[in-house]
Amino acid sequence: MSSPPRLYIPGPVQVSAKTYEAMTRPVVGHRSPDFVELYRSVQPGLQTLFGTADPVFLSTSSAWGVMEGAVRNLTQKKVLNCMCGAFSDKWYDVTLRCGLPATDLRFEWGSHVEPEALRRELATGDYDVVTLVHNETSCGMMNPLAELMAVIREFPEVISVVDTVSSFSVVPVPKDELGIDVMLTGSQKALALPPGLSLLSVSPRAMERAGKVEGRGYYFDFLEFAKNHEKGMTPSTPVIPLIYALASKLEDIEAEGLGERYARHARLNDKVRAWGRERGFTLLPEEQYGSRSLNCFRNTREIDLAELNRLLRAEHGMIIDTGYGKLKGKTFRISNMGDETEESMDALLTALDSLLERVSGDSPATPHPA
Ligand SMILES: *Cc1c(COP(=O)(O)O)cnc(C)c1O
Repeated sequence: MSSPPRLYIPGPVQVSAKTYEAMTRPVVGHRSPDFVELYRSVQPGLQTLFGTADPVFLSTSSAWGVMEGAVRNLTQKKVLNCMCGAFSDKWYDVTLRCGLPATDLRFEWGSHVEPEALRRELATGDYDVVTLVHNETSCGMMNPLAELMAVIREFPEVISVVDTVSSFSVVPVPKDELGIDVMLTGSQKALALPPGLSLLSVSPRAMERAGKVEGRGYYFDFLEFAKNHEKGMTPSTPVIPLIYALASKLEDIEAEGLGERYARHARLNDKVRAWGRERGFTLLPEEQYGSRSLNCFRNTREIDLAELNRLLRAEHGMIIDTGYGKLKGKTFRISNMGDETEESMDALLTALDSLLERVSGDSPATPHPA
């Protein structure tokens, strides 16, 4: 196998040596006091990151496991799936595949979910669950979460499920303050851990709903998570090496300070955004809804993105993303999630600059004015 590239794709993101090192610790029995100590040790740090007083459950699955699990645990009437990109679109499909009644509230890829449209739909009284992707990774678009949550809170019957897979620990998402019922994230995006673990926190009223819902299944049953949580355990054997990695990452986050972590992400995101603008690329979403964990640029210069990425890998050992699904070739995405620094982002941007002229569709570029 050729040596793996340095990842600047928006997930999985580059994993640090310290994290890999943490994963080599020998596993312990998942019903042993050693495990209980480990499980309980990560709770306070996770509750701070989630902005919640509720437990944070650890699920051995990628995020889709708990995204599917959430709709199965909570729906008695009907789900409203807010859609504005690949992940939120797929959540609708997943809801239907679970055999649940659902409505698709669609916006263009790269557009945000409009609070007024959400209010109008919820006002029909048809729904008891709404799904929302905070940061649409496929389009580099961050939804106006506080405004959307304010709308959802007007409808007490509606349980909110919010995917923060690529915004968690990038910007503050205070679960309890915003009234989010179920907040979930995965390991391989903003947390910069290898894939395979997801985290979720469930409000008491969502727990109560789950208690009344049939057909929750076993693996993602919220009641199983809660029952085992009381004992400092997970329902089934968890991916213990990733929990070691998580504990190590929480130490890093505490050492950096949460405020500085948010500020670093904002700084690096601005740096990449300014770089793109100076080179004639516009963001896919409107500026104010641009994601803070990645930038998704339109390929306004009609660059041969596949060739750019090939050269980037061959000559610099790095890769970016050249567009998700139907946006392939039309956009490119650069992540600033996880452990990125000024130096690591500069290294990428310098490498891209050395290649751009060679792959440009337009005439050799004098940098475009903003
Ligand atoms: C990556 C991603 C997911 C899916 O995560 P998996 O780990 O592949 O299950 C869901 N939502 C968002 C916003 C994502 O970026």
